[in-house]
Amino acid sequence: SQIRILQSNCIGCGTCVQLCPFEALSLVDAQAFVDHNRCVVCGSCVPVCPADAIVDDSLPDDVMPGDSMVDWSIPDEPDVKSIVKGNETSTFSGICVYAEHTDGALVPSVAEVIGAARQLTEGTGLPVSAVLLGSEIGHLTGELLELGVDEVWLVDSPNLQPYAEDAEARCMSELLAELKPAIVLGSGTRRGRSIFPRVAARLNTGLCADCISLSLDQDTGNLVVTRPAYGGSIVAKIVIPHQRPQMATIKEHVFRPASKVSAPSGTVRDMSSQIRVSKTVLEILEIVKGRADPANLLQADTIVAVGRGIKKAENLPLIYEFAGAIGASVGATRAAVDLGWIHPSHQIGQTGSIVKPRVYFACGISGALQHTVGMEEAETIVAINSDPNAPIFDLATYGIVGDLLEVIPAFMETLKAEKQ
Ligand code: FAD
Repeated sequence: SQIRILQSNCIGCGTCVQLCPFEALSLVDAQAFVDHNRCVVCGSCVPVCPADAIVDDSLPDDVMPGDSMVDWSIPDEPDVKSIVKGNETSTFSGICVYAEHTDGALVPSVAEVIGAARQLTEGTGLPVSAVLLGSEIGHLTGELLELGVDEVWLVDSPNLQPYAEDAEARCMSELLAELKPAIVLGSGTRRGRSIFPRVAARLNTGLCADCISLSLDQDTGNLVVTRPAYGGSIVAKIVIPHQRPQMATIKEHVFRPASKVSAPSGTVRDMSSQIRVSKTVLEILEIVKGRADPANLLQADTIVAVGRGIKKAENLPLIYEFAGAIGASVGATRAAVDLGWIHPSHQIGQTGSIVKPRVYFACGISGALQHTVGMEEAETIVAINSDPNAPIFDLATYGIVGDLLEVIPAFMETLKAEKQ
């Protein structure tokens, strides 16, 4: 399959040349020319051509730009980017949530993103929709409606196979340009981080990644997001005032998941026949599953976390023994990780996991902001630190000033005595 130029249609406007992500198009004698050594047949050039002069041979014969199935022409606006320019922001409304799924199930963070969207729209009357893209995923619509979504926008296509993220991003861009939500939210998962920048670039709009809070500006209705910036030394407030949709990914485990509604009243809008879904340019050779949470922190009821105060890696077995005795998972600060004492999957904080256990033991941890953002929502915090002025004590429910290498063995002696 390849991209072809219909010379009789080409008007030499150069729009495709500017937008080709692979620099595979150029103008030769005022006509578009494809360098097939560079072209990956991503299909981005097809919809942008105002003269229907570009053909993607990989499409079925009965689907061509300009067909009745999809109207690629943009009335009164030859530049595709202007479909989503902010000077017409009032034509965009509502909040759309990206419904990520894997192995036939929604990922848990979708409920958090819907929770964030519902919290934002509370009392405003703004609708919350969900964009659900994939192959044979219609069964997930019910769950989205149960989470309080007003409308599910579904595109079900065999081209949307797992990890076909280029095809998914193209499909999502078309859908959003068509349905025009004012805000698009997703989760800061690996997939969210892959899809959202591609979509934002295609729609020529702004994206704020890994947000930790969201609100609507009372006067303008603009989305206001906050996220750590400059290495965590400040928390920045960011708005996207002129472009639509306003896109953001939110950090996992920060927002409360949406609760199920007792009588779902939302509807499903099947857009599968209206949105063109091109094939992926990727070839998936093998899917090797890893454990999403190898340190088992996200679901842990109790966490024993260690910091630089354990002094050396040789003291870690004591922590594991204590954690094992009370059925806890082991977490760590970045300092302990950076020193090579423990695997990065154990890291808690701004650049690690955000956890909400019932009990959190902070052992030899000073309480730096970058760590505490990841554990401050624990129900009970027990801090063991030899420095009575350590900031972690400001957060702790119970504070023990002392050497953890003495305090933890004493805890374990007490536990053993109680068991006997
Ligand atoms: P320290 O700050 O060195 O504290 C060690 C503590 O142990 C001290 O309070 C000391 O009094 C106590 N202590 C010493 N000996 C004993 C003993 N025998 N018994 C009891 N207590 C003892 N950090 C994270 O944790 N997670 C993150 O995700 C993260 N992200 C970051 C992102 C950025 C961009 C930056 C710049 C930093 C980040 N950090 C993160 C690092 C963070 O700023 C701190 O440096 C780190 O959390 C400190 O780890 P700590 O408490 O183990 O070490």
